[in-house]
Amino acid sequence: MGKILVTGGAGYIGSHCVIALINSGYDVVMFDSLEIGHIETVKTLQSIQAKGSVVDFIQGNLQNLSEISDVFKRHNIDSVVHFAAYSQVAESVKEPQKYYYNNVYGTLNLLNAMLENNVKNIVFSSTAATYGNPVYAPIDEKHPQIPVNPYGKTKLMIENIMDDYDKAYGLKSVRLRYFNVAGADYQARVGEWHNPETHLIPNILKSTFSDGKTFTLFGDDYDTKDGTCIRDYINVEDLANAHVLAIKYLNNGGETNFFNLGTTEGNSVKEVFKTCEDVVGKSVPIEIHPRRAGDPALLIAANNKAKSVMGWSPEKTLRDSITSAYNWEKILQERIQKKEMAEI
Ligand code: UDP
Repeated sequence: MGKILVTGGAGYIGSHCVIALINSGYDVVMFDSLEIGHIETVKTLQSIQAKGSVVDFIQGNLQNLSEISDVFKRHNIDSVVHFAAYSQVAESVKEPQKYYYNNVYGTLNLLNAMLENNVKNIVFSSTAATYGNPVYAPIDEKHPQIPVNPYGKTKLMIENIMDDYDKAYGLKSVRLRYFNVAGADYQARVGEWHNPETHLIPNILKSTFSDGKTFTLFGDDYDTKDGTCIRDYINVEDLANAHVLAIKYLNNGGETNFFNLGTTEGNSVKEVFKTCEDVVGKSVPIEIHPRRAGDPALLIAANNKAKSVMGWSPEKTLRDSITSAYNWEKILQERIQKKEMAEI
């Protein structure tokens, strides 16, 4: 089994992917700046000794070409899974420079280092945000890609760069376009840990931890069945498994390709909220706020392509995702409290 470089391996999706890779017998080198990722996550991943896989960690930033080049010199890397990026839509509108520089320039450095070292396979963390406002639903891979914010634009630019690098240098890429990623490792070893947290499920769950805390719902006047936005929530472990299949696809000589990762099912914000209340066994007061800028009413994936080409299919339900996210959130809350206690 080869050695896989995972950039952003200490982050939310990256860490679940590292577990999926070591469960499949790959050795992993994690490269992470720890600006968003956590050292605790690195330690947890290194303590998992599945099938004797080795998990190395290098702290570094893709914006420094020498730091990422060094990784290829020190390790015999077979393929790359690239997560390291900024991913907050609203922040990308306010600070586009930060996004273009980190996401696009950082990826150019990574690709330079790969080509320099003759590494030709990369799985890239792309997004449904590259499609922009949906013209039809469910969204398949032929849907026009017209991103409406700098975050989505950076991801589309990278997809385009990868196509050109394939034509000119034979770099093979699989771009995985995620819909709404949810849930945590079923053993609650890793999970979603953002600061600040903007995503729906962790925000609802966080509001269940202290009495009287309300959940803020952005917009109940959309043209949907209950007036709230509909999204396609894909479980993070199902998502991680798709990355392993993508590596295998490339290693078996697969051509550059791109796939949606979603469930094809839509759930409204109110449905997600009710399922969270049900899983936690507690009711939470809701505050209705105006619509959040840039939120489309409905985003649902068509996923037949990933099924037919890579043999991937999601297995977990929304309830599974919420249950695992809740189990993780309990651990996270304890950790945060301990840290706060230690600082007092
Ligand atoms: N949302 C909400 N309250 C929150 C966070 C999110 O009502 O605290 C809504 C948001 O407006 C959107 C949906 O939940 O309609 C999913 O948002 P999220 O940020 O999780 O993912 P996105 O679809 O923006 O990638």
